[in-house]
Amino acid sequence: MTKQKKRIFGIDLGTTYSSIAYVDDFGKPVVVPNAENQNTTPSVVFFDGGNIVVGEVAKESSKLYPNEVVSFVKRSMGEPDFLFDYDGHSYRAEEVSAYILRKLGQDAETNLGEKVTDVVITCPAYFGINEREATKIAGEIAGFNVRQIINEPTAAAIAYGSTETETDRVVLVYDLGGGTFDITMIHIQPEAIEVICTGGDHNLGGKDWDDRVVATLVEEFKTQTGSTEDILEDPDTCQDLQLSAERAKKILSQREKTPVSITHGGERVKVELSRERFDEITRDLLERTVMLTHEMLSEAKKRGYDKFDDIILVGGSTRMPMVPDRIREEFSIEPKLFAPDEAVAKGAAIFGWKLSINDELIDRLQRKTGRRLKGVEDLASMDQKQVEETARELADESGYTLPAVKSSLTRVRDVASKSFGVMATNPNNEEVVVNIILRNTPVPVEATQEFYTAVDNQKTVYIRIMEAETSEENVPPDHSVEIGTAVLNLPSGLPEDTPVIITFKLNKEGRLYATAIESSEQRKVEVVLETSSVIHGQDLNEAKSRVRNLVIH
Ligand code: AMP
Repeated sequence: MTKQKKRIFGIDLGTTYSSIAYVDDFGKPVVVPNAENQNTTPSVVFFDGGNIVVGEVAKESSKLYPNEVVSFVKRSMGEPDFLFDYDGHSYRAEEVSAYILRKLGQDAETNLGEKVTDVVITCPAYFGINEREATKIAGEIAGFNVRQIINEPTAAAIAYGSTETETDRVVLVYDLGGGTFDITMIHIQPEAIEVICTGGDHNLGGKDWDDRVVATLVEEFKTQTGSTEDILEDPDTCQDLQLSAERAKKILSQREKTPVSITHGGERVKVELSRERFDEITRDLLERTVMLTHEMLSEAKKRGYDKFDDIILVGGSTRMPMVPDRIREEFSIEPKLFAPDEAVAKGAAIFGWKLSINDELIDRLQRKTGRRLKGVEDLASMDQKQVEETARELADESGYTLPAVKSSLTRVRDVASKSFGVMATNPNNEEVVVNIILRNTPVPVEATQEFYTAVDNQKTVYIRIMEAETSEENVPPDHSVEIGTAVLNLPSGLPEDTPVIITFKLNKEGRLYATAIESSEQRKVEVVLETSSVIHGQDLNEAKSRVRNLVIH
């Protein structure tokens, strides 16, 4: 039996549902049920007068109070323009997400009788710099010490890897959630879990399947009543239809058909929806996931991976029978439905557990050697006999098994989910984004590129840092988004074409650091990414203090 000094919890902050897990004293990941005794909590927030309500009650309230309820807030992470106005105050996506996190933490604390302080939070693999930062800040607003943000498919693969006895496997994680689709290739080995390649669409998920059902129901209403009215204009009807559509979709995962009733303007219409019809109206959505999977596979091929051993299905939407059916047909492989709703939170918890064992091991090694160690990566340069001996001591004294201590040393290596570059001007005087770090490059990574001043005696270089989905070296500006800016001041009198060297460093969490050097005087600026995409300064402090004493209902 093991006794952890400090538990690090894993949180799956989902578009539609969220959950929290930890690793128990026997080394097993466990999802903590919420106050309603459910393993997942709807990611829905209801501003109810002075109260904040999160979860099932909030979701149900969306029917009666559509303007006081926020759903799908994850889709707005890192978006400066998302503001939810309530009672004279504007709430950013980070704060709304913090309420969801707080509810998870609070319920886990009540359930386990211990404080939730340190957490690992997951985010979709395609999240860019700002969305990741926003996720981390949401955790901080909720009062947590956010140890790391890790990718959802990586977390799912960690959970899967922990159940497999086969030790060298290449797996595809097909993750179809409520609002997002991620497809990721991961190489699981005893000493490392390595992401090879990732793809997907952040606007494709169960919600789109629901919307198709809603559209069909609206058409049926029109046909049966002869009405030409757009019934979705009525917020109550719209919310009602959305809930009925999701319910019908879930029933169709079990049964061949289901009745659905539509009530609007005093009229009530009954529709029988069959699975066959449902499959038909959503076929193109499913095909898009297959197409994106092939796209990712051809990227992986360029990296030397031309086959895989398993496909694991995660995300609630993989419960729709059409998903495993189509995958079986396309890849002639039996997909593994792997605790679709829980895999991500459990994987994050295992990752957190590894971090906590690592902390202890590193702490011991530091005390023994007097050396300052930054992390597991420093262990490779140490006397391996001493590492082994310390691992054994830790196992003996803490009650962890030696394999558990050793497995905590497994490296988890991810890839950049976007390309990062700067805006430059080409010889034809056209603006072009020159990517310095390419998408799907293993992280951490550091890359440098030389640019040149445009005119004699240029006083400043204005650096626009860009993020793009593609992995080409040069992309047109409209295929990328600006994520930050920086200014490098130059000494006077420099000729045109003076080199300016820009270095990008992307750490293992997907955080970007940039420096720019003017070569004549080696004038260097640490580029601080200035962005309005995440809450900061006074606004951040205010949000933190609002959440600090809040009890979520
Ligand atoms: P996730 O974000 O991974 O929790 O996935 C949530 C999505 O899965 C939502 O769109 C749900 O409607 C969907 N979902 C959950 N259970 C089922 C089910 N039994 N059949 C179809 N979709 C489901």
